[in-house]
Amino acid sequence: MSENRSQLDERLHIIEDHLVQMMEMVSERISDVTSAMLEGDIASADRLIIGDDDIDLLSTQVEEACVATLVREAPVATDLRFVVGALHANSDIERSGDLVANIAKAVGRLQGANPDDRIRELIAQMSDQAGELFRRVSEAFRARDTALAISVADMDDVLDDLHYRYIHYVIQEARRADLDPQHALQLALIGRFYERIGDHAENVGERIRYIVDGWVPEAQAAERAKARQSGELATPSPRGVAVIGALAAERRIDAIRRDFVANVSHELKTPVGAMSLLADTLAGDVSGADRERLGEMLMKEAKRVEDIIDDLLELTRLEESEPETELLDVDDIVMRSVEKVQVFALTRSVELATVGLPSDRQVMGDRRALVRAMANLIDNAVRYSDPNSQVTISVVDLGGSVELGVRDHGVGIPRAELERVFERFYRVDRARSRETGGTGLGLAIVRHVATNHGGRVSVDSKPGEGSEFVVTLPCVPRNSPTS
Ligand code: ADP
Repeated sequence: MSENRSQLDERLHIIEDHLVQMMEMVSERISDVTSAMLEGDIASADRLIIGDDDIDLLSTQVEEACVATLVREAPVATDLRFVVGALHANSDIERSGDLVANIAKAVGRLQGANPDDRIRELIAQMSDQAGELFRRVSEAFRARDTALAISVADMDDVLDDLHYRYIHYVIQEARRADLDPQHALQLALIGRFYERIGDHAENVGERIRYIVDGWVPEAQAAERAKARQSGELATPSPRGVAVIGALAAERRIDAIRRDFVANVSHELKTPVGAMSLLADTLAGDVSGADRERLGEMLMKEAKRVEDIIDDLLELTRLEESEPETELLDVDDIVMRSVEKVQVFALTRSVELATVGLPSDRQVMGDRRALVRAMANLIDNAVRYSDPNSQVTISVVDLGGSVELGVRDHGVGIPRAELERVFERFYRVDRARSRETGGTGLGLAIVRHVATNHGGRVSVDSKPGEGSEFVVTLPCVPRNSPTS
């Protein structure tokens, strides 16, 4: 059941409020726990240990709201990013709360340690730095300010440096026998806790960047960060003139994304819904045999989710990163892709045959992507064939280009659907695709790979007789001057 936009907004607001509240709580408690420790105030430390329950409770509420949003609604691209980012940030903040409680627990064990002024000073500095990190990420999160979020990483470097000096000093003191070994160990642990709090804050900063910018390949992210730090940081508002110019294009992309994300949500909802139902049933009173059957069904649904996510990541990789190109033997690509599908073909009693090898041709490209694309085609050919049939993988040399064909004698594709099969999630027969474990993304990946390599993919098919998919790529003969 889909809820309306205002309900979705309200839920997202709650998530945001809770997260900000949690970050502020962590920040305040870092300072409280440090005072309790430096003053040896066990009663206050105990209160801080109990207080951790508040953060855990908020964190559970955030989790529930995020899952509810993912499962019950079809969030659009930016919302989806927010929810995924929020889920990760939530666990980082919750762990930081745990670390504060850990420091509080160490207060009792430090009784009688009497750390010297240098240790006390370094602890106070680490505490200030860690508290400030969380104040900063909460502000960055509220303002969706990526520049501020990026600055958290630099601050964390300062904390790491303080931690290094602190540990060094504690070890020195222990060696000089000015510190009892047990106390030195406790103090070293406490230093680690502050350091880890800093790491979590840095992670939250990363999540904010993800929420605002989405997942971007490292090199591109670094460039954007640089541009932001030199340019937009100077202007009070990130909405500059250039941003307005880009709005129209962005809106169009957003519309495409919205469609896509609606599809993804739809595709994921079914197996996720089935999984929760199966898990519910399993938690009840079921006999041994049923338990096993339900368990198997649960595994199958989980595998579906995994396959969809796997293919989505592959598509994202193809869309967002430059292919790593090298000169590759066509024969090697064909053999590797056949190998990938061989076991699946055996289980379905389909024979894989190759013709046109050795071809002596080379293509410039990304091996992983090309093998994946060809394997997708062979996998489909097996999937949509009857047992005891044959699938032929052929290489045809056309001089400047090479045709890699995959032919089957399976169910075929109606003429009207031929162009559409390359669309994401498009399936001629949903039930058959689902039943045999298809994700609906295989051919979208093939098309992407082909065009990324300056080539194309085409299909010819007759229902009841079979299909042939052909990937055409520019090629060179092996050992030609360019190779
Ligand atoms: P799926 O994971 O569902 O196979 P694909 O993107 O690989 O998704 O293919 C899209 C649809 O195209 C499939 O659901 C199926 O209906 C059709 N299809 C693909 N390959 C073949 C084939 N070799 N024979 C018949 N139908 C095919």
